[in-house]
Amino acid sequence: MNFTFTEEQQLFADSVRRFALDRLEKDALKRAHDPRFPFDVAKLMSEQGLMGITIGEADGGQGGSLMDAVIAIEQIAAVCPRSSDVVQFGSFGPIRTFAEYGTPEQKARWLPDLLGGRAVMSLGMTEPDAGSAATDLKTTARPDGSHYVINGTKVFSTFSPDAAIFLIYVRFGPGVGGIGSVIVERAAPGFVIGQPSAFMSGEQWCELHFDNCRVPAENVLLGPGGFKKQMSGFNVERIGNSARALAFGRYAFSQAREHASTREQFGRPLCEFQGLQWKFADMAIKLEGAQLLLYRAAANADRGFPSAYETAVAKAACNQVGFEVSHESVQAMGALGYSRESLVEYCMRRCRGWMIAGGSVEILKNRIAEHVFDRRFDQRRRHADAAE
Ligand SMILES: Cc1cc2nc3c(=O)[nH]c(=O)nc-3n(C[C@H](O)[C@H](O)[C@H](O)COP(=O)(O)OP(=O)(O)OC[C@H]3O[C@@H](n4cnc5c(N)ncnc54)[C@H](O)[C@@H]3O)c2cc1C
Repeated sequence: MNFTFTEEQQLFADSVRRFALDRLEKDALKRAHDPRFPFDVAKLMSEQGLMGITIGEADGGQGGSLMDAVIAIEQIAAVCPRSSDVVQFGSFGPIRTFAEYGTPEQKARWLPDLLGGRAVMSLGMTEPDAGSAATDLKTTARPDGSHYVINGTKVFSTFSPDAAIFLIYVRFGPGVGGIGSVIVERAAPGFVIGQPSAFMSGEQWCELHFDNCRVPAENVLLGPGGFKKQMSGFNVERIGNSARALAFGRYAFSQAREHASTREQFGRPLCEFQGLQWKFADMAIKLEGAQLLLYRAAANADRGFPSAYETAVAKAACNQVGFEVSHESVQAMGALGYSRESLVEYCMRRCRGWMIAGGSVEILKNRIAEHVFDRRFDQRRRHADAAE
């Protein structure tokens, strides 16, 4: 067992860090407060070979491992937290499921623009009545000649104000086995995109309404029975979510550490007060522990899809630690940490969202408990109870 990067990984990490310092550091604060997708960063990253790290070379990606993509998130986020969303989009998000299961025609049509930083894709899974219970989704896809007709509503989709294409989870038939997905283009007839709303993080999302929206049958990504495949693709997304949460925690920690080393009160640097030293020691323990869990899940997956259990453990740990550490970092920096000039409060707000998004901490713990007890716990009411 080895707890250090290989020489190749270290060289990659160093080169990504240099790129981030040269091209991204200057506008890091401005970018964090811009709600829209940073296409300028996506184009720069495409030129730098940082889009599609986990996507095969035959599809225009870099043919790297999940671990390489985690390293890229860490190095970018350490300099410009917001820009790491672009690594997430290009290597972990719905694009990864799309590249895995798309037909050659679908990939030829959409991947060049997505990997070139010219277009972004949004994932529509959550609905007003189907959040954690994702398989309760009601959006339907009905065959009609050479097309499918989509009806339903999606909420909270990241990048929806800017996306050119949307990966929409739909119901072709009843039950979990009836769930699959289709690609919907922004201009599709019957597709209505609502006004942007904002999350606490400042990111925007729009309601997506499908009102007899017609999409060609060749836009089906996964037909009925595709839900399990989609969820294994979703574990990749969860690794990226974990990596960003931890990296944002680390960013906040390093800002707070610098502050505590230099800021003096009562005639002494803050770091000389034991009350603060122990805060920093606790933060270091949490960060190091979550880091190992993240690397285990990513390294074991290599180029493939990570294990659901290791991913759940890593995401629950990284989400909680990212938030706790950035929250404590705000405290250690006083009013400066709480102000919009420091980026530390931004890290805290972003980390808070990841405790809900992409499998909330509670849902992950349900998954972990199933592993602990080696049995499935159905979250739904039993039929007999429901009939009462
Ligand atoms: C920043 C952000 C980005 C997002 N991006 C996207 C996106 O791109 N695409 C998309 O489709 N959706 C997206 N979402 C939505 C996200 O997937 C849902 O918010 C999530 O699935 C939870 O659903 P919900 O908000 O409806 O909460 P609910 O499911 O209503 O849950 C409310 C609370 O109850 C808890 N809970 C629910 N069921 C259980 C249970 N069985 N056991 C224990 N606790 C439970 C939850 O953990 C939560 O704390 C995003 C959300 C956020 C915050």
